[in-house]
Amino acid sequence: MEHDFVPTRQAGLDRLYAFAPDAGARYAAQRNFDSPEGVSQLSPYLRHRLLTEPEVIAAVRDIHGERDAEKFIQEVVWRSYFKGWLELRPSVWADYRLGLKAARDRIATEGGLRKGWEQACAGATGIDCFDHWARQLTGTGWLHNHARMWFASIWIFTLRLPWELGADFFLRHLLDGDPASNTCSWRWVGGLHTRGKHYVARAENIRRYTGGRFDPKGQLNETPDPLDGPPLPETRTLPDTPAPEPGLRTGLLLVEDDLTPDLPARDFAATATLSGAAHRSPLKVAPGVLDFTDAALADARDRLAPDATPLLDADALATWARENALEQIVTPYTPTGPARDLLEGSGLPVVPVLRDWDRAAWPHATAGFFKVKKQIPKLLSAV
Ligand SMILES: Cc1cc2nc3c(=O)[nH]c(=O)nc-3n(C[C@H](O)[C@H](O)[C@H](O)COP(=O)(O)OP(=O)(O)OC[C@H]3O[C@@H](n4cnc5c(N)ncnc54)[C@H](O)[C@@H]3O)c2cc1C
Repeated sequence: MEHDFVPTRQAGLDRLYAFAPDAGARYAAQRNFDSPEGVSQLSPYLRHRLLTEPEVIAAVRDIHGERDAEKFIQEVVWRSYFKGWLELRPSVWADYRLGLKAARDRIATEGGLRKGWEQACAGATGIDCFDHWARQLTGTGWLHNHARMWFASIWIFTLRLPWELGADFFLRHLLDGDPASNTCSWRWVGGLHTRGKHYVARAENIRRYTGGRFDPKGQLNETPDPLDGPPLPETRTLPDTPAPEPGLRTGLLLVEDDLTPDLPARDFAATATLSGAAHRSPLKVAPGVLDFTDAALADARDRLAPDATPLLDADALATWARENALEQIVTPYTPTGPARDLLEGSGLPVVPVLRDWDRAAWPHATAGFFKVKKQIPKLLSAV
């Protein structure tokens, strides 16, 4: 995998400051064209919170003001919306994992399906644009948003492959692979997120927004029905996040989901870092993704806790807690996804610290984006 995403906070800040002057009207006009030039490519940094949402928004707002930066700010808030949406319905992540298992069972027994899946992942379907994006994804670890939408739509409606296998393909290869943005976006394309409303990739739209580089006229299913699925689960309220107890022997665990954490100042008996990257998929996660995540965690150790022990699985986590006789473990709140699965699987006394940004945004993610969008002025006043 070849890319120029340097996995440090400083590299993220450099990219942010280089892009911020273009995040106003130019971004709004360019963002649908599939060139990486028109967008920030900050997603691998935001995914691990090498950069945080408020600081990215503040940098852009300071240059353009809220009105001119509206489109960019909204996109960043889409990220918070999806995080909150999944946090209020964590069973959707568990169901995705079950759906993936069922789809993998099918490819073990259905030769035609297996071949279709292999061809799609290898970029060998004969649909040039799709094949190009498959190879771009595995080659660089990043795809433009519009390409992700077209790709997912063609995967589901033209190639008729299970959406869970496509979401898994993305998670294994995207440097920004995110349990919330990825699962919700695939469900959105299929018509499961906003029930009955699916995203249909059209040849004319692809021709236009790829500047004529691709024109899959006659190759796409442009009249599909949306996917059908079980009703959405009820939303839960966010779990309480009480402060750490004073007087207990306390460890600090930095988790890959938030590497610029906002944590209480106190002495920690031991520190460690945790990566869930290898657990994104039951299949092998791309080495480039594992390397990026490991290096991002190393950067966090350098900045925040040079003596921290790197941990990669639940057993290592349990051993670290036992050997250091920890009575509680303070972590940044780790949202639904692979790292949280590891934490929950460990059964350790974890004390998650929820950020103000998440506390303000997530409870509004009960339905569509609109309710969170309405909160943007309030969110910005705290930035
Ligand atoms: C099928 C599909 C799968 C996706 N999977 C992921 C994923 O695993 N991880 C991920 O971070 N994003 C995912 N996205 C959302 C989006 O495509 C990427 O965040 C965006 O392309 C990243 O490029 P950028 O940083 O240049 O974005 P910009 O356009 O510069 O936007 C700035 C930031 O806003 C956020 N953002 C922008 N668009 C979206 C969006 N539609 N949804 C949520 N957040 C957004 C990202 O954090 C991004 O870095 C997916 C979209 C689709 C359609």
